[in-house]
Amino acid sequence: MQINKTLNGLTLKGNSEKKKDCYIITGTLEGDIEVECVKCLKPFIKHIKEKVQYKIVKPPFSGFDEKYDIIEQEKLNIYEILKSEIELIKNDFSNICNECKDKEFNKEF
Ligand SMILES: [Zn+2]
Repeated sequence: MQINKTLNGLTLKGNSEKKKDCYIITGTLEGDIEVECVKCLKPFIKHIKEKVQYKIVKPPFSGFDEKYDIIEQEKLNIYEILKSEIELIKNDFSNICNECKDKEFNKEF
């Protein structure tokens, strides 16, 4: 099944495949998310483009998968996945705005 869903500017495009006990989703996350710079706390736009591979399983799940990111859901819900991805992007400690990056760069010389 084709997936093309957007939440708050973040789009997941790809395919979902129903297996016996899970869904496999492969695709791309892309979008512009407003995040806060960890240094100066100013908001800035971060461009996201990454390949994703999810395995959606019913909770409780106690396994481990090297290839896929495991997501526990009773029912497949793409918006919930996007919501948690946005949370992860916003809470990333490497969110540093260009201004602060420039400052760091100039310090080294
Ligand atoms: Zn900054």
